Amino acid sequence: MATELADFLPQLDRDIRAMADWGKVADYIPELARVDPAQFGIAVALADGSMVTAGDAQKRFSIQSVSKVFSLACVLGRIGEQIWTRVGREPSGSRFDSILLLELEKGRPRNPFINAGALVTTDELLTGRSPRDALSEILGFLAAATGDADIHIDKFVAQSEAETGFRNAALANYLKSFGNLKNPVDYVLGTYFHQCAIELTCEQLARAGRSIAGLPGAPRLLTPQKARRLNALMMTCGHYDGSGDFAFRVGLPGKSGVGGGILLIAPGLASIGIWSPGLNAYGNSQAGTVAAEKLARKMGWSVFG
Ligand code: GLU
Repeated sequence: MATELADFLPQLDRDIRAMADWGKVADYIPELARVDPAQFGIAVALADGSMVTAGDAQKRFSIQSVSKVFSLACVLGRIGEQIWTRVGREPSGSRFDSILLLELEKGRPRNPFINAGALVTTDELLTGRSPRDALSEILGFLAAATGDADIHIDKFVAQSEAETGFRNAALANYLKSFGNLKNPVDYVLGTYFHQCAIELTCEQLARAGRSIAGLPGAPRLLTPQKARRLNALMMTCGHYDGSGDFAFRVGLPGKSGVGGGILLIAPGLASIGIWSPGLNAYGNSQAGTVAAEKLARKMGWSVFG
């Protein structure tokens, strides 16, 4: 498998770079707006312990909403099923930052991967901990999952998120008004903005996903049951209102972020980190989604058999 991939990934890299349309980079903060969209990296961690990469796989990027997978993993480890009393498990069919359903559903967000749900997850992580300790818990999880302690938060990105995060502030206040935030709104927002500003390379992201993919030799950070649940949520809710389209085209669980990253999981087979910063109409990586589709087709990887 490693040999087949070593042949395929350079070809995939060339095909992606030949694409005319990279999509549009997120422009709500200057740090993301000035990223060159014409970049692409991919790293595949395989069950035999090998890693195959191509393109800009060693470049750090802002993981943004991909961080929601890791904060949820920490919370599942800490309180398990209890989190579902506060947040649902249904795709939202709405934008990532939508406030609409929150009113209809009385402050219980649809799922942990839309912003409202992620704020609840972060709030849970803050229970009994300072923002600094909650962030250390996520960074510690990533260090253990990747086997690499060289993982950082971009303070400028976190600062810009805070300066422009009016919608997230609205969501947090709204959750608080329904009694679904236990900690001060400022703590929750500050922690959330910093977790979104974590930077990883594609290779680190692929390594971080090995426990979720249940690869042999991966650090045992999750029970198999919890890993299955994370995969189910990534499959149904990992790409916002483009989740159905992603499942249809790629057939594997994935989680995207507005920085252009995608964590893609082929359960039992591979954990894949993909990055290309230009986004499609759903706010998911345009070239990254095409690459995921081509990779899954080439390798015959699909959770649908
Ligand atoms: N920091 C972004 C926000 O909360 C993350 C969104 C995303 O990656 O989809 O608005």
